[in-house]
Amino acid sequence: MPMSRLAFACRSTGGACEWALEADSAEVILLRFAEHQKCAHHLPELTGELRQKATAAIRTT
Ligand SMILES: [Zn+2]
Repeated sequence: MPMSRLAFACRSTGGACEWALEADSAEVILLRFAEHQKCAHHLPELTGELRQKATAAIRTT
């Protein structure tokens, strides 16, 4: 059974940002998104609200 790919775009959480990625699991996406928030948006960690928004915005490709 092929694994489905998951896709996520930073702008889906409300920002005007072009960063996006694909990964095999939501855990990886949230981890990479947390790193991206730190590097690009100077947010040291994902808040619960942002994590929820991000989780809801993850799409199957
Ligand atoms: Zn971003």
